Amino acid sequence: MALVAVLVCAVSCGHTASLSQGAQGGGSPQAATFPPAPAPESTGGFDGERAYKHVEQLVAIGPHSAGSDAIHSAQAYIIGQLKSFGCPVEEQDFHAPSTPVGDVAMKNIVVKLPAANPNIILYASHYDTKRIANFVGADDAGSSTGVLLEFARLVCARKNADTIWLAFFDGEEAFNFNWADPDNTYGSREMAASLALSGELPRVKAMILVDMVGPTKPVYKRESYSTPWLTDIVWSAAARLGYGRVFVNDKAAIEDDHQSFLNRGVPAVDIIDLDVPFWHTPQDTLDKVDPRTLAITGHVLVASLPDIEKKVNNNK
Ligand SMILES: [Zn+2]
Repeated sequence: MALVAVLVCAVSCGHTASLSQGAQGGGSPQAATFPPAPAPESTGGFDGERAYKHVEQLVAIGPHSAGSDAIHSAQAYIIGQLKSFGCPVEEQDFHAPSTPVGDVAMKNIVVKLPAANPNIILYASHYDTKRIANFVGADDAGSSTGVLLEFARLVCARKNADTIWLAFFDGEEAFNFNWADPDNTYGSREMAASLALSGELPRVKAMILVDMVGPTKPVYKRESYSTPWLTDIVWSAAARLGYGRVFVNDKAAIEDDHQSFLNRGVPAVDIIDLDVPFWHTPQDTLDKVDPRTLAITGHVLVASLPDIEKKVNNNK
């Protein structure tokens, strides 16, 4: 993009490659008034407090990196919650045979909600935490897992126009401290590859990824690898709801699970605020997660779904 004025590789390039700021990005959006949290009655029922309770429970499990003993507790929690919402749950077990620590057993947790329309809209988050001592990952990946669980409660309880899938990915984080391919995104690459093999991948018309959606005063920049029309739909919905200071027009290029689908031709968007000082440090604790941010993010997911459905069905 011609707008790029600054290009900085983040220190360890975790989920990220580089941050770039648009021409209008000179001022700090965080200095502006932060919008109030929407009540569930005004968000199609999405409850930020419920989402926050999930984050609390996941943090209470402690560090749960891929292959750890504790990740089984996180899996049991996610599966138990999904079942309590009436969601049909698939446990997709697989092995990542050649990670830096050897063969690691992993599990993607997938909900598939059928509909008459075969077009699939896929919502996703990772749930593993990064393998750092004392790292509980309240924002990364507790916040997005909490949002996706609360979103699951809503969509599993109703009839949806299109087929909706929800994926909770294992193994997004690199085992090494630094992010270097192919040591990352194990779960999303596995799911995309399996869908390609089964022939179902072309049915996936849109993939919406949430990751690090918890901080107070979030700023979601338009992620540069993401599909423009899908980004436009989500950001337009946010603007309509009054969240233009959260979903801003600056850009950031961030490597994340959405690329596993983008690389195979599936339109995808990443909603993420990577620009937080506690990223990949033991300071990523529960106090960094704000229920208002979870509510705003969930509200935008709910509000943009009909627009995404309309678009993918017109494109058919
Ligand atoms: Zn991370």
